[in-house]
Amino acid sequence: MPTSPQKIALITGANKSIGFETARQIAKTGVTVLLGARNAERGEHAAAKLKAEGLDVRYLPIDITDHATITAAAATIDKDFGHLDILVNNAGIIVTGDGPVATTPLEALETTYRTNVIGSIAVTQAMLPLLRKAPSARVVNVSSGLGSITQAGDPKYFAVNNKFLAYAVSKAALAWELRDTKIKVNASDPGYTATDFNNHHGTQTIPEGSAETIRLALLPDDGPTGTFSDNAGIVPW
Ligand code: NAP
Repeated sequence: MPTSPQKIALITGANKSIGFETARQIAKTGVTVLLGARNAERGEHAAAKLKAEGLDVRYLPIDITDHATITAAAATIDKDFGHLDILVNNAGIIVTGDGPVATTPLEALETTYRTNVIGSIAVTQAMLPLLRKAPSARVVNVSSGLGSITQAGDPKYFAVNNKFLAYAVSKAALAWELRDTKIKVNASDPGYTATDFNNHHGTQTIPEGSAETIRLALLPDDGPTGTFSDNAGIVPW
């Protein structure tokens, strides 16, 4: 179908927490938001909530570990809109058993990588042809301060003693992905945010934890690419 002038965003794992708030704030700027979720009930429910706020938000089934759903999602976007302006790779996991190198089971590495790295790259690969058809696309990879090699070795970093091998390595890889393409690709660190991800132990609210991802998704044309940042500014790789 011919490319429509309407601005379209896809956010993965958007049925709750940081992804949900990112969907809400991007939709508030007039963008049509495709709310990606792996579970139909949770996805429909979340999209209905934002529609009730008067926003153009539509549920799009996508499990980032299931290639058939990724391909189907790309085909739906192509059919309905012909392009994609914003991709936020937000869906991510941390698994039980993740910890220091000495004790982390290899299964924890495999499971975490399958979602956080391979899943997000699979989504990016499938969406790239659609991103290329947009006049000025943005990709935001939601990373983590725990994926910063510099911070991991900095005794002053607040989480220096939190070693989650699988998660940290997965987020470091994601931060670098595609940073040298023409499309603006940046990575955000939400900061320690109270969500289901950490049993609500995070010290920030969800709007605070979503702010940098939203800013990077809506960067102006003279904005940067290949950066990694949080609410306070650039995070060292
Ligand atoms: P969350 O509350 O656990 O939400 C994660 C979202 O990802 C959920 O919607 C979940 O769907 C979805 N998801 C997980 N696996 C998926 C898959 N295979 N396919 C599609 N969706 C999937 O986590 P959050 O705190 O909002 O975290 C969002 C992102 O921020 C993650 O990438 C995380 O690594 C990153 N981050 C979080 C913090 C923090 O302190 N919270 C700090 C740094 C970075 P279901 O509801 O179906 O499970």
